[in-house]
Amino acid sequence: MKSTEPEFAGHFEQLAQGRLCFPYCAACQRFHWYPMPLCPHCRADGWQWRGINGSGTLYSWTEIHHAFDARYTGALPYIVALIEFPQAPGIRLVANLVGTSSMGLAIGQAVSADFSQVLAGSGPLVFRAHAVAAS
Ligand SMILES: [Zn+2]
Repeated sequence: MKSTEPEFAGHFEQLAQGRLCFPYCAACQRFHWYPMPLCPHCRADGWQWRGINGSGTLYSWTEIHHAFDARYTGALPYIVALIEFPQAPGIRLVANLVGTSSMGLAIGQAVSADFSQVLAGSGPLVFRAHAVAAS
């Protein structure tokens, strides 16, 4: 999946190699998302892309039952999630969560990036939920 916005190019170039990267500012040692010309925290320029391991946690999600775009009709229902990353504090990424239903999902649940579609050039980065341990 390619972005048409040039500031996202580094993110998608790394993603095509199976790496999840976000803008990281060495001046204030913080991540930010989306990419911006200057660090939104300290206004420094010269931030770098920094890779993380793709392990995240579920901040929130919604299950989509109505396709506003006809291309997604066959995918219904699907889950759109907001994902946080222990290795990139402050980042919340919107992405589809696949291989599960919304039943049984929990806030804070572990998820992992699945790069198979981006590596095959057939779709976007998606995430898969880990099973929740029985309590
Ligand atoms: Zn900064």
